[in-house]
Amino acid sequence: MIDLELLSAALFPDSALTILSISQGNDQHLIVSARTSGGQPACPCCQTVSTSLHSHYPRTLADLPCFGQGVQFQLCVRRFRCRERTCPRQVFCERLDGVALRSARMTERLTGTLQGTALQSGASVGRRIGRTWGIHRSRTTYLRVMRRMTPVPRIKPLKYIGVDDFAFKRGSLYGTLIIDLETGQPVEVLPDRTATTLAHWLRDHPELELATRDRSTEYARGLTEGAPQAQQVLDRWHLVKNLREALERQVQRYQKEMKLALVLEGEHTVLPLCSHSAEQSSQDVTVQKQAQYAKLYAQFQRGHSIAAIVRATGVHRATVHRAIRCQGQVSRRRHARPAGILTPFQTILIERWEAGCRNASQLYRDLVQAGYAGSKRRVILWAQERREVPTPTTPGPFRTSALRNRRSEVGQSSSASSLTVKAASWLLFSLPEDVEEDQQGLIKRLQTCAPLRQAQELVHSFRTMLRTRHGESYPSWAEQVQASGLTELINFAKGLQREGSALLAALTLPYSNGPTEGAVNRLKTIKRPMYGRAGFDLLRLRVLSG
Ligand SMILES: [Zn+2]
Repeated sequence: MIDLELLSAALFPDSALTILSISQGNDQHLIVSARTSGGQPACPCCQTVSTSLHSHYPRTLADLPCFGQGVQFQLCVRRFRCRERTCPRQVFCERLDGVALRSARMTERLTGTLQGTALQSGASVGRRIGRTWGIHRSRTTYLRVMRRMTPVPRIKPLKYIGVDDFAFKRGSLYGTLIIDLETGQPVEVLPDRTATTLAHWLRDHPELELATRDRSTEYARGLTEGAPQAQQVLDRWHLVKNLREALERQVQRYQKEMKLALVLEGEHTVLPLCSHSAEQSSQDVTVQKQAQYAKLYAQFQRGHSIAAIVRATGVHRATVHRAIRCQGQVSRRRHARPAGILTPFQTILIERWEAGCRNASQLYRDLVQAGYAGSKRRVILWAQERREVPTPTTPGPFRTSALRNRRSEVGQSSSASSLTVKAASWLLFSLPEDVEEDQQGLIKRLQTCAPLRQAQELVHSFRTMLRTRHGESYPSWAEQVQASGLTELINFAKGLQREGSALLAALTLPYSNGPTEGAVNRLKTIKRPMYGRAGFDLLRLRVLSG
């Protein structure tokens, strides 16, 4: 026999409900009958305690499932008269504090479970999870209870924040996420990324001391307007990224010199293995294609229709058409390389080369006399491809280092001559401890170009300054950049100058925008399963309460 009194105390520890009976309802439900016990409730209007019972009424509440079955409370609740003459209320119902809210059809613990599930996984997934527990509620119920929530208000003052943007719709619509840098928790989601909206929010937080941000001018302006007292800190990751981009543009400017530094001692046969295997595989494909075309054309000649050939072979209709049009022969004309402007002069060039002329300018003059109308550069490239040792006109420093490197790293010549600007800039950007051993040779070759070596030194010293937080050496670094004459790095430094104290803070303080980037990532995992259907209010709620 169940001790109902014990059960009442266990099920409703904080409220005065007494269980009367438990029975099995139809459709897999346990019905728990209960009544409110004792106590005189106060009128919700005038707070006067009333002892004047008016009547009883039945109230039904759904509760969390038990033993895999739904639970329904059938309560007998009392109504009272308010005897206070001045009170506008004449009759009131007693409240079920700790059990259910006014007019609710579910107990507070069931509502809390629905809210928690919906917050973490969304209404649709929440509904599916709920079913496995025996909670059969619709998606709209999950949405409704979730919308009723409000983010928990902060108790501690907000001192350090991180600001970053995220996309509602990439390329066109953006919002702003603000996090507390001390806890890493989101504190606000704003519907756009304008300075005005941010400044408006910041004005309600005069206690702010510090804010990290990326290099967006809107955020800089918003922070200056809304929280002038707060120290702004640039994000270090963005600084490094912008520096690398500046270096890449700088290398782009010296592309010609870079190629020269790489090619001077480079092997003249560029990528021999690669081109050979490509040609080989291309020949294999042609042989297969020829066999296929011949087969298809033979079938056509035997009187089969195109549709019949398609059915029999499974080959695409367009291919059958092409095979018939070419009469079973693969046409190679389409793939043939057009004759270059140098082609008619190949015999003269080779003749002069064999005779020992290695001077590209001389070769070019000879060709012009023979009627060549192309550029000098083409002749230089032609000569470069064949040259095995640097020309006598190659400047001294290039020449000696070229010969030295050539002796030590003949094996790398093919990768050196095909090095792109991006790859070269990455090599120059990497700090010595991050470079693989086999890349050292390439870097040495790049360093033979004086401007690239200088750019590399400046980039490394900036990165070291950033890593070791030695912001005090920034002014001398900026002077060095100015004196270097490296345009792109000068532009980068000019851009930094506009950031003012936010830059110095990034170079000295330990704060960075990394945690905000992480929070944005988490926001994306909430946003994406909503498939763009849910509105901003729901996203904000889930980000702030989740
Ligand atoms: Zn009253």
